[in-house]
Amino acid sequence: MEINKGQLDTFRKMIENASSIALIPHKNTDGDAIGSVLGWWNLLKNKGYDASVIVPDEVPANLLWMKGAGEIIVYENNQLTGERKLREADLFILLDFNDMERCGDMAGVIKTLKTPRILIDHHPDPDTRIAGLLFSETEVSSTCELSFLIAEALQWEDKLDIYAAECFYSGVITDTGSLSYNSSDPRTYRIVGELVAKGIDKDKIHKELFQSNSLERMRLLGHVLANNLEVMDNLATAYITISKDELDKYQYRPGDTEGFVNYPLAIKGVDISALFTEKEKDKFVKISFRSRSNIPVNKYSEAFFSGGGHLNAAGGEWKGTLDEAVQRFRNTFPEFLSRL
Ligand code: 5GP
Ligand code: MN
Repeated sequence: MEINKGQLDTFRKMIENASSIALIPHKNTDGDAIGSVLGWWNLLKNKGYDASVIVPDEVPANLLWMKGAGEIIVYENNQLTGERKLREADLFILLDFNDMERCGDMAGVIKTLKTPRILIDHHPDPDTRIAGLLFSETEVSSTCELSFLIAEALQWEDKLDIYAAECFYSGVITDTGSLSYNSSDPRTYRIVGELVAKGIDKDKIHKELFQSNSLERMRLLGHVLANNLEVMDNLATAYITISKDELDKYQYRPGDTEGFVNYPLAIKGVDISALFTEKEKDKFVKISFRSRSNIPVNKYSEAFFSGGGHLNAAGGEWKGTLDEAVQRFRNTFPEFLSRL
């Protein structure tokens, strides 16, 4: 995979004309979203630009160690500052999403502004109206991997310091389940090698990302595995539900349920997993889907849960009760599978 020269030239021009750049990820940020915005934040700062990061909602605590995290503006907690920063910027770089609606309430503000936009993303089927310049590559593991490739093609490696490397490394690692899926291209390992060569402390990063859980998060995981895991016989499918009351009982913080959806896949014979999380009691359920091989959970989520994502990792939403969401899944998924 090569970064297109014409697109690189356009990127250079857009950056040269900019004095204040806003970096924007999707809502419910994860390691790839925060890794890519902060990786670019560090790179652009090192290039002498004024850059800021504005995120739709609160960032998971296990990502806040990255350099620049302290300066992130959380739009839902600080709408006035967020909106002012968005209005002040003369260039937007959108990272790790393909549809403006993934920015939640912030999308409304962004859409009213005429600010030029660049998209850097690895999700299939981007809305091409999302930005004037699109770096959209589905064959990379992560937006962080693509970001590294763009920085390399720009010959900005000297500005890619240890802090930017820590951020990009984190995105590659979190989006591949520590290089267990979505990581069969040798290129990914070349890039991991280059990032490690920047001097990052890999062991420290893994501890920050995966071994800094609260006790409550571990207890919540134990509880749902013991009590809320259902296997759908003969369908190679299993799912977990979590109610709002359970989230409250275990003092849920953003990011606490990250990774839960992967546990059912550890059961022999299970190739499809879903996680239903009741975010607002009786009103709103967030759903995550995972699969193996060619089972397109993104297509399923798009069709039945107003969602989308990647072939093997997708998400969606249900405006209603937890029971309704689960019933919808149980009623529609077997047929979806049978039609594949
Ligand atoms: P997760 O399950 O980790 O929240 O998300 C998995 C993948 O699905 C991510 O690539 C994410 O961008 C995508 N995704 C999650 N929720 C939604 C959603 O509500 N709509 C769309 N279009 N994609 C989603
Ligand atoms: Mn990603």
